[in-house]
Amino acid sequence: MKVYNGKSVFGGIAIGKISVYNKEQQQIERYHVEDAAAEVERFMRAKETAVNQLKALYDKALAEVGEANAMIFEVHQMMLDDLDYNDSITNMIETQKVNSEYAVGVTADNFAQMFSSMDDDYMKERAADVKDISERLVTVLSGGNGEGNKFSEPVIILADDLAPSETVQLDKDKVLAFVTRQGSSNSHTAILARTMSIPALIGVDVETDGAYNGVKAVVNGFTGEFIIEPDQETEQKMEEKRQEELEKKVLLQQMKGQGNVTLDGQTINLYANIGNVEDVASVLQNDAGGIGLFRSEFLYLESNDYPTEEEQFAKYRQVVETMHGKKVIIRTLDIGADKQVDYFNMDKEENPALGYRAIRICLDRKEIFRTQLRALFRASAFGKLSIMFPMIISVNEVREIKKMVEEVKAELKEQGIAYSDDVELGIMIETPASVMISDMLAKEVDFFSIGTNDLTQYTLAIDRQNPKLDPIYDPHHLAVLRMIKTVVDNAHANGIWAGICGELGADPELTETFLAMGLDELSVSPSLILGLRKAIRSTDVSKVKEEVLAKF
Ligand code: PEP
Ligand code: MG
Repeated sequence: MKVYNGKSVFGGIAIGKISVYNKEQQQIERYHVEDAAAEVERFMRAKETAVNQLKALYDKALAEVGEANAMIFEVHQMMLDDLDYNDSITNMIETQKVNSEYAVGVTADNFAQMFSSMDDDYMKERAADVKDISERLVTVLSGGNGEGNKFSEPVIILADDLAPSETVQLDKDKVLAFVTRQGSSNSHTAILARTMSIPALIGVDVETDGAYNGVKAVVNGFTGEFIIEPDQETEQKMEEKRQEELEKKVLLQQMKGQGNVTLDGQTINLYANIGNVEDVASVLQNDAGGIGLFRSEFLYLESNDYPTEEEQFAKYRQVVETMHGKKVIIRTLDIGADKQVDYFNMDKEENPALGYRAIRICLDRKEIFRTQLRALFRASAFGKLSIMFPMIISVNEVREIKKMVEEVKAELKEQGIAYSDDVELGIMIETPASVMISDMLAKEVDFFSIGTNDLTQYTLAIDRQNPKLDPIYDPHHLAVLRMIKTVVDNAHANGIWAGICGELGADPELTETFLAMGLDELSVSPSLILGLRKAIRSTDVSKVKEEVLAKF
């Protein structure tokens, strides 16, 4: 038995086998082959294996998600048999006497480029498909099983580090826990682990070279321990603790259907934070009053190219429809800093957190923003949608956004496309600048949602991504708490509501403080809602208000 220690970013116990995460990127080598005919044979065999894998995937998808969604695997089989694609690969092997992996890789790049440059949206999207089938072929040729980081049973993921884009693509039902050597507790990967309610440890000094693949381990998200090959006694103790936690969760179910009301009658909205459409199930299971933050950038992170208006519209519509009239606040694209998307082709920056990100990109590359706004407004006709904008620092930005919103609405009206005229527009308060002018900003928008993750970073001048600074990244700092109070006061003085959607909203040590400050909403990871409701229902604000507010 070996015990490693790290920092926990989400509690809970997980027991299972380790799967060491392989970076998806395949390094393709080019080498000379003597016998080109034998190499073409090898390519043909790999293709047959890939087609069989796709047939099996089609059957699985047909049973689980229906024909429409399974179709893609049939399309991929057809593409693998495409004459031009095959000719290009075999020609290259025969004339240049190169290995199959290389011929597949070069053909994939050429075809993908050709598809991307076409005008037709449908053909453009085929670029991602040709890359996908080619990666599958290369994996088979290199002796892989073509399953990538997909697992046959639930596993504990062990990785050096995980980028947000890698985390969102994991099969969530098959992940028991995350353990990484790097990472900071305020990074988006950590936030995703919380949203997915998965025990997660960071900063664990453990080998990630594959030696532990398939080995049994325990993740203790309460103590930060990562126990490899636990002895019988330890495993039994951990299993008991896991059961205890499950029972606590069951007990919390009693909170479902109850109001978020304090002992002295003050109410507050409890909403959920999500990163994609699949998270909505957990929002409903945990009885959230709405969605307070849908991080829409994850749609971009999951894609290989800019998601089209239609693709975005379908997702936003699905979320608002599934929420059946409950409020859904979608935040517009917030990439940059730790959320990098390759196809945006952004320059390398010295200080990405202070750089070209979020609304700054949207107001500069307006076509991207316009596409998202159109998709959002179209979805607004199908439920109760609100929109909020990240990283605001000035009144001018808000006015520019509102101007674009009006243009998009006018365009939709002219085209006879339905949208709701009742969409609340809000902003995130996550820069000290926006706090200091929150009295002015409140006159421009319908609500404020305080992003305490970035607000702490920018107020304390501490990079939220830097694990070395984790010990001093302190969202309880008086400066941050005073700012929250200022924002709430300015919102109320101007007749708008204010909530928190940063991680601090779920901090039980501050629930009393937030109630005393009069916050109208807290938006937290879905799995934390019922516990927070319990805390709210046992608080008497009138008894603590004076004492709490005296601190600010
Ligand atoms: C925040 O900054 O608090 C926030 C909610 O946004 P994100 O964590 O996605 O930057
Ligand atoms: Mg933020």
